[in-house]
Amino acid sequence: MSRRFAGVMGWPLEHTLSPVIHNAAFRRLDLDWVYLPFPVAPAQLGEAVRGLRALGAVGANVTMPHKEAVVSHLDDLSGDARRIGAVNTIQRIGDRLIGHNTDVDGFASFVTGDAGLDVAGSRCLVLGAGGAARAVVRALEMLGAGSISIAARRGDQAHHLTQLAPETDTGCLDWETVGSRCQDFDLIVNATPVGMSGEDLLHGASFTEGQAVVDLIYDPPLTPLVDRAKTQGAAGWGGLGMLVHQAAASLRIWTGQEAPVEAMSVAAMHAISRL
Ligand code: NAP
Repeated sequence: MSRRFAGVMGWPLEHTLSPVIHNAAFRRLDLDWVYLPFPVAPAQLGEAVRGLRALGAVGANVTMPHKEAVVSHLDDLSGDARRIGAVNTIQRIGDRLIGHNTDVDGFASFVTGDAGLDVAGSRCLVLGAGGAARAVVRALEMLGAGSISIAARRGDQAHHLTQLAPETDTGCLDWETVGSRCQDFDLIVNATPVGMSGEDLLHGASFTEGQAVVDLIYDPPLTPLVDRAKTQGAAGWGGLGMLVHQAAASLRIWTGQEAPVEAMSVAAMHAISRL
């Protein structure tokens, strides 16, 4: 049987860690599979997705900016992908392409596993209202958050996200003044790209012991937001753990096997130290 393949579609696709993480997993599982980066411009997305059928790919991951646009090119969606309206994993079953969203599982596994947080009853603040924020809101509801507040620079988008957690006490905060409200929360999650270039999100906000801050950004591994939170006594993490767990969930979908999370994590940490 010929070698099988999967990959990640994004645009631009610079510095992606996904090939390193998945190829480490394939090796550990002794699979003759390869995972490749596929830079796909938005205008070519439909053609590229159809190509997964024609070429017999195992599946693919989908990253910015295609997570929502890809939905219209697929045959079916699993529960979280349908609810959120965003796909990060495509599974090919014969000629059918099924969309999944493993960011939800990835965030939940990271928070409860690696970070060891018990979110049940917690007051949570989510910054941003894009695809990742939607997955976080969904995961926080699954984990039994006591309340979820959302702050985004576009208030209408923040309001839209509250509908993803119908069984939780939800609300929106003003983006311009949210920094002064941080003390009101047990868990704060940055789901914006602010911090990738060293910007200090929530400049001036203060944190204390007992609070937890998670930044979904993994490059740099420690954003100014997380650095400041930790310096002030709060617990803080970057996004590498979530990245590994969402990849592990994709791998389980494609292979039906348990993912070698430890090997994937080691590969990710090694790769990020060389970026
Ligand atoms: P997205 O769909 O483009 O959403 C980004 C959100 O951030 C939007 O609400 C956007 O607001 C807001 N935003 C962007 N620039 C901003 C700025 N300068 N000031 C204030 N708000 C700003 O992106 P995404 O897929 O959700 O990804 C968000 C971040 O999470 C990225 O850094 C990504 O790398 C990271 N991520 C990490 C993982 C992981 O596994 N660790 C997984 C997924 C995503 P507008 O709508 O107004 O532009």
